[in-house]
Amino acid sequence: MQTSRITGTASKNARTPAPADEPWPAGVHARFLTTYGHLYNDRSCTVDVHSSHAECRTCGWKNHSGLGNKALADASAHARDCMALPRPTTNTAIHHSA
Ligand SMILES: [Zn+2]
Repeated sequence: MQTSRITGTASKNARTPAPADEPWPAGVHARFLTTYGHLYNDRSCTVDVHSSHAECRTCGWKNHSGLGNKALADASAHARDCMALPRPTTNTAIHHSA
């Protein structure tokens, strides 16, 4: 009987996606999942639309055009185009000593 050994792949999926029914923060009127969030099943990667502005939680993109159809279309378009990687929650930077 053979035992397959898979190494080095578990850490890539270490981020735990937020549940689909995560409550929206107060003041959020619409929320768009970004392309990155869609591809990697990370529901924390959204563009949130508030009454006065929209903001991408992944890359920081902002739009201050309110809550009209144009603002919703812009937020949706940004979410569709945004491939920004979310900042890692753990510090895995490698420091080289000189
Ligand atoms: Zn973005």
